[in-house]
Amino acid sequence: MTATVIDGKAFAATVREKVAGHVARLSEEHGIVPGLAVVLVGEDPASEVYVRSKGKQTVAAGMKSVERKLAADTSESKLLEVVAELNADPTIHGILVQLPLPPHIDAEAVINAIDPAKDVDGFHILNVGRLGTGQKAMVPCTPLGCLMMLRDHHGDLSGLDAVVIGRSNIVGKPMAQLLLGESCTVTIAHSRTKDLPEVVRRADIVVAAVGRPEMVPGDWIKPGATVIDVGINRVEDRLVGDVDYDSCAAQAGAITPVPGGVGPMTIACLLANTVTACCRAHGLAEPEGLTA
Ligand code: NDP
Repeated sequence: MTATVIDGKAFAATVREKVAGHVARLSEEHGIVPGLAVVLVGEDPASEVYVRSKGKQTVAAGMKSVERKLAADTSESKLLEVVAELNADPTIHGILVQLPLPPHIDAEAVINAIDPAKDVDGFHILNVGRLGTGQKAMVPCTPLGCLMMLRDHHGDLSGLDAVVIGRSNIVGKPMAQLLLGESCTVTIAHSRTKDLPEVVRRADIVVAAVGRPEMVPGDWIKPGATVIDVGINRVEDRLVGDVDYDSCAAQAGAITPVPGGVGPMTIACLLANTVTACCRAHGLAEPEGLTA
């Protein structure tokens, strides 16, 4: 079997187009421009690349982009002040504090200081609780992107066996909640899981979010299963995922490549979340197809 390659790059472009369409409509019909603020503390080179790319794509979609760059030794109280300013700014609908934060700052306290209605990363405890109880939430961008690709490929996900490898708060757990919301039978695997190969072999859908290069080999994959590879691992000079692409593609029905799979969907979903937050803030209908 040769797997269908799920082209995240192309899919993300369609999401960005939809976002731009909604942004144009918001401006024409209501005179509203959605605004996204990204706060970066310190000079982590990878974070700087992400922040630049987020800013560029925000502007390309017709939205307002604000970047707040703070020195690495910025105090937690100063950062909280910046968050409070952005919370109070009516032209800003989404706030993202780029992680990781320097060790002297309590990241949890900062995230929970963001107005939950502007928490486009979906990491605020209220949004986590809303997602877990099936209420309208801001949903973390990476799992939202995975869900969009799965819905697009499968249509109805109801009753499928899904195995999520990884239980982080930013990917694994919200991914599992979203799949449960789609009525999948969900298993969350992690470093203590007994007989991981057997667990993964049951899955119609495998989402790998581990951070270990090419850890999942093809013989763990049920023939015809869909494999979503969240992993981004730098090995020598190339990027590889958490699944061994060639052997998994030989077994799977569909698979996301790395790069060009989940990665591009993450920023596209950040833009989608910003438009959603803007519509909710103004009591307007939410954009269709861009939410969980
Ligand atoms: P974390 O390190 O926070 O979590 C990794 C998870 O994998 C943990 O739950 C851990 O288990 C589990 N794990 C580790 N080793 C094993 C093992 N041998 N068998 C089974 N499970 C294991 O990572 P993240 O969730 O933040 O990220 C995961 C990957 O996704 C990374 O490669 C990251 O770069 C990538 N990523 C990609 C994004 C994108 O936009 N495409 C966005 C975010 C992340 P335990 O809890 O027991 O320790």
